Amino acid sequence: MKHVHADWHDDTAVTCSCGNTFVIGSTSADLQVDICNKCHPFFTGEQRFVDRQGRVDKFLKKMAAAGTGTKSKKTKKIDTTPAEDPQSYQEILRNQQIALRSAAKSQKAA
Ligand SMILES: [Zn+2]
Repeated sequence: MKHVHADWHDDTAVTCSCGNTFVIGSTSADLQVDICNKCHPFFTGEQRFVDRQGRVDKFLKKMAAAGTGTKSKKTKKIDTTPAEDPQSYQEILRNQQIALRSAAKSQKAA
């Protein structure tokens, strides 16, 4: 009899990019996923930007150029990371929020 079935693992560890881990049954020994039920906006109820091609930065630049998005002409350049250095969506959003908050603070001080 030929062995045609894939090997089954009852204890496959799934690791999400947000840091969440859980165990499932799978034919893979372990799995890496980008998004899970702990960080997906559908389950968290949070609005988040899934920005992989810098579309948010592009939009912010466009708004700054139009002079409607921000009150001052001097907008702090948001640190854009290259695609080679993947961040979790939470990290991207957190960094952008920090940048926006510091920009707002420096506006108030000036
Ligand atoms: Zn996750």
